[in-house]
Amino acid sequence: MSYDPENIFAKILEGSIPSTEIDQTETTYTFADINPQAATHALVIPKGAYTDLTDFAEKASDKELADWVRGLAQAAKTTGVAEAGYRVIVNIGDNGHQEVPHLHGHVLGGHALGPMLTKRG
Ligand code: AMP
Repeated sequence: MSYDPENIFAKILEGSIPSTEIDQTETTYTFADINPQAATHALVIPKGAYTDLTDFAEKASDKELADWVRGLAQAAKTTGVAEAGYRVIVNIGDNGHQEVPHLHGHVLGGHALGPMLTKRG
C-alpha cells in the first residue's frame, strides 16, 4: 500500500486538523485519541510517512524506530498510567482493523482493561 498524504494523521502533523498534544520529539508525535476507548487513550505516531508497522520496520531509521518505541512508554508515563499498567495496541491492515493508514500505536490505561481479545465464535 502506498502512503496516502491526505490521511487524517498526515493532516494533524501538518497542522491543518487540530489535535491535543501530549508529547513530541524530533521524529514522533503523541496526542489524545478523539474517541477514547479507555480513561487514558493516547496515539503515538512517527512524523515520517509510514503506512503501518510493516512499512515502518522496513524503511525507518534506527533513530525513528527507537524514538517511536520510547514514545509509547513515555506516553504511559506522561499520562500517569505507567505504574499501574497499560496496554499498547498496533492495528495493521484489514484483518488488524486499521482505520487510519499512518502508523500509530494506541496507549490505553487508567483502569483494568480486561482480557486482550474476545475469542471469535
Ligand atoms: P485504528 O483503528 O487503529 O486505525 O485507530 C484509529 C484511531 O484514530 C481511532 O482510535 C480513532 O478514534 C482515532 N482518530 C481518528 N481521527 C482522529 C483525530 N482527528 N484525532 C485524534 N484521534 C483520531
